[in-house]
This record gives sequence, structure tokens and C-alpha cells, in this order.
Amino acid sequence: MAYDFDLFVIGAGSGGVRAARFAAGFGAKVAVAESRYLGGTCVNVGCVPKKLLVYGAHVADELEQAAGFGWTLEEGHFDWGTLIANKNREIERLNGIYRNLLVNSGVTLLQGHARITGANEVEVEGQRYSAANILIATGGWPQVPDIPGKELAITSNEAFYLKDLPRRVLVVGGGYIAVEFAGIFQGLGADTSLLYRGDLFLRGFDGSVRTHLKEELEKRGLNLEFNADIQRIDKLDDGSLKATLKDGRELVADCVFYATGRRPMLDNLGLENTGVELDERGYIRVDEHYQTTAPSILAIGDVIGRVQLTPVALAEGMAVARRLFKPEQYRPVDYQNIPTAVFSQPPIGTVGLTEEQALAAGHKVQIFESRFRAMKLTLTDIQEKTLMKLVVDADTDKVLGCHMVGPDAGEIVQGLGIALKAGATKQQFDETIGVHPTAAEEFVTMRTVTR
Ligand code: FAD
Ligand code: NDP
Repeated sequence: MAYDFDLFVIGAGSGGVRAARFAAGFGAKVAVAESRYLGGTCVNVGCVPKKLLVYGAHVADELEQAAGFGWTLEEGHFDWGTLIANKNREIERLNGIYRNLLVNSGVTLLQGHARITGANEVEVEGQRYSAANILIATGGWPQVPDIPGKELAITSNEAFYLKDLPRRVLVVGGGYIAVEFAGIFQGLGADTSLLYRGDLFLRGFDGSVRTHLKEELEKRGLNLEFNADIQRIDKLDDGSLKATLKDGRELVADCVFYATGRRPMLDNLGLENTGVELDERGYIRVDEHYQTTAPSILAIGDVIGRVQLTPVALAEGMAVARRLFKPEQYRPVDYQNIPTAVFSQPPIGTVGLTEEQALAAGHKVQIFESRFRAMKLTLTDIQEKTLMKLVVDADTDKVLGCHMVGPDAGEIVQGLGIALKAGATKQQFDETIGVHPTAAEEFVTMRTVTR
């Protein structure tokens, strides 16, 4: 049977755009439907605008350090409206680039909500299209617990478009988004509290990293409230918000920001017309080739709930395009040793196993850990410490994990990711000549086993 398209991609986010462009480049006839914004979450309400706001907040650090280097500055003034307007302009520029990328690759771009109406059929704006393969790349959406007053809270989606910087903010959650936005709000001058339901935030990250970041954030004056959970939110007469905690305490703020995870975006997608099954967590179930339980339908990215990071969605999109249309180039995505950064202030960079994971996996580990004051701070009064840590297998000498909290951690850990992927040993780290004077050289000069 002749189909309108070889591949119909639903969602022009990180994964969908990558799959569509490369499939078209391999000669396939491809359509992409996008209901909201080209580039998806990452470009519009994720990685990119977040990093721009992090840069904005970081300027405060530079200003604070300036005096130590002899600079006398007049008192600075921050204008949220300018930052948001400039950020919006950049996002619009990127939207245009994504449009050109797709159109210039020969992809048919359809604007509107897509609904699957059959195993090989998708409807967009009342028009039906047939396709040999359908790829679901619809991403995720913020999830807010069902508490009284939840409609008074905002999520990352709204935070990027706030009219004014709130004076007092309660950030709820203990994952990437909560920690990053707490740093943004506080860095830009808001009186910020971070509320996390457990004992210590960033569950799943290395224990030393979690404790070190907690201490550094406290030094910066961020109010960390652990074992704190909001029971209800009420609006007060003066327009501010009162959060009542489960332990009875009441906190008042101008903004309550929830970052309590994301659900897969399946709204009105028409899955009931297909044999696509969900897994026990509600994400689309796929096999190792991103094949759903319906033979003609595939899924990638946040909607399959594996690793919710843009470079992972990109790799999955590439894998699907190759497997379908360039099988001789197909290689499965390697989910081991994915480097990642949390753009907190200071940031975290991490790759490989945490100490806890290495021990749980039965490794006999050697830990190399270093805490030091970065050279840049020695002319200032700032007492912030950088943490670097290596987790090494004592039997094989292989480096199992690298972890850092400190300036440029994300930049530094990218290179270490290659070393871990290549299976580097501690001896090879030791034999690597350092770049002097940098903080990064500490990763190749740690000689004494900490434990
Ligand atoms: P998305 O990028 O979400 O794209 C899905 C697209 O599908 C959207 O454009 C949506 O409008 C569209 N869509 C949904 N349903 C339909 C439908 N029925 N019809 C048509 N279109 C539809 N990752 C990093 O690696 N680094 C970071 O620094 C980082 N920061 C982040 C910060 C925030 C605040 C958030 C929320 C996420 C961040 N992420 C980061 C995660 C990253 O954004 C996601 O992992 C990535 O965007 C997932 O790509 P995707 O293709 O699966 O989905
Ligand atoms: P995460 O899954 O990282 O964190 C969710 C947090 O919310 C956890 O601390 C969790 O606690 C807490 N939580 C969950 N449910 C509740 C609840 N009902 N009440 C109170 N707290 C709750 O999600 P995020 O929203 O922070 O981010 C989503 C994903 O986006 C990330 O996992 C990451 O993959 C990606 N991302 C990546 C970034 C980067 O690369 N720099 C930046 C931002 C996002 P607990 O641990 O106890 O379960």
C-alpha cells in the first residue's frame, strides 16, 4: 500500500526534529506535526531559556567578586523584564532556525495537534495522513501534586514568562529543576526557600555531591527546608500566598513554584485507537529499538521515561532514523556513563557511578575526594569550596564515576565522559598531564585515597 509518508513524527522537540531531519536526509518522505512550539521543551521552556537565566543570575557572583580584582562598581540594578525580553528574542530566533532545519531537509511541517486515528493514520487539524511508520516524540509536562490551592502555584512553564521577579519564592521539589530555579531566583535577588519532602535533595546523585551542594547553597543564604511538604496553598487578602505545611507551619510568599517531576504528554493523542501500551509508570512501553507494542508505531524521548535529557532524546531520534532508513549505520544508544550537569549555583557535573551505586553493584571501591577554594576566589572574601571526586574500582583500577560541584562543572565533565566511555583507569588519569592553573587539573592530580 502506498502511504502519504514513510515516517510521521508527532512532536517537533529534541527527539522528533532529530529523527525527522535525519530520516529525510536518508531519503525518506517525512512529516512532523507540532502543536505548540518548534524545538520543543528544551528550546522553549527548558534547557536553553533556563541556561540563559542561570547566566543572568551568575552575573551577581561576578559583581560580588569584582572588588577583589580592583574594580569599583556603582550599585547594580537588575531588570527582570529586560532579561525575559532578551531571552524571548533569542528563543524566537531559535524557533526560526528549527523551522529552516526541517523545511530545508525536505520535511513537511504541519502546525497543529496530532491525533493517531489508526495503526498507520494521523489526523492534524481535520486532515488525515497515512504513514508507514508513526513516531511519538511528544515529550512531557510538569506534574503538580493534587493539593488544595494547586492552581495558585506555577511550574517551569510559567516561570519563564513571569511579568516580574517575585520578591519571595517557595520552590517545591528536590530534583534538577527545583535546584536550578532556586539558584536562579535567589541569584537574581528573590528571597528564596527550597522545600523538599525527603532528608536531602537530589536523590540518586552521589552522596558527597548532595551534601556539598547543600552546604554551599546554605552559605549563599538559600533557605533549605528538608522534610517539608506543602499541604495546601491559600491566597491572602494582599495577594500573597500562604503555604501550610504538613507539620502545621505556615510560609508566606509571592510565588510558589512546583518542580515535582514531569508526566508523559499523551493528552488526546488517540492511543486508544492503537495497540500502544503504557508501562507501570504511565510512560509508553518500548523495546530496545523504540518499537511500541503496535508494530507501526515507535516512541522516543521523555515520553518513554528512560533518561529525560535532550542529548538522550537526540541520540534516540538518530537511532530510529538510522534503523528505519539507513540500517547499515544503525547503532543502539549506549545508556551507560551519560554525563549530566545540574546548573545550580555552584553547578554539579557528574558521569558514571556514584559511590553508593558502585558499592551496591558489588565493586570494591577506592574514593579520591578533594575540596578546595577555587583560585579565582583567593582575591575575594568568598569562601565557596569546589568538590571533586573519583570513584575507582579497586580491583581493575577503572574509573567508575567522576563527580564535581563547582564552577564550570558541566563543561569539565563532558571531557571526562569520553574518558569513562573509553574505559580509562585511574593510572591513565594520573598519567594525563594537567592543564595549569585550572580547577579541572585536580581530576588528574588526586593521588591519596580518601577512603
Ligand atoms: P520535547 O522536547 O518536550 O518535545 C515534544 C514536542 O511535542 C513539544 O514541542 C510538544 O508541543 C509536541 N507535542 C506534544 N503532543 C503533541 C501532539 N499531540 N501533536 C503535536 N505536537 C505535540 N535536558 C538537558 O539535557 N539539559 C538541560 O539543561 C535541561 N534543562 C531542562 C530544564 C527544564 C525547565 C525542563 C522542563 C527540561 C529540561 N531538560 C534538560 C530536559 C529536556 O528539555 C527534555 O529531556 C527534552 O526536551 C525531551 O525531548 P523530547 O523530544 O522527548 O520532547
Ligand atoms: P525530577 O524527577 O528530577 O525531580 C522531581 C522532584 O520532585 C524529586 O525531588 C521528587 O522527590 C519530588 N517530588 C515528586 N513528587 C512529589 C510530590 N508529590 N510532592 C513533593 N515532592 C515531590 O524532576 P524535575 O521536575 O526536577 O525535572 C524533570 C526532568 O527533566 C529531570 O529528571 C531531568 O531528567 C530533566 N532536566 C534536566 C536538566 C539538566 O540536564 N540540567 C534540568 C532540568 C530538568 P523524590 O526524590 O523524593 O522522589
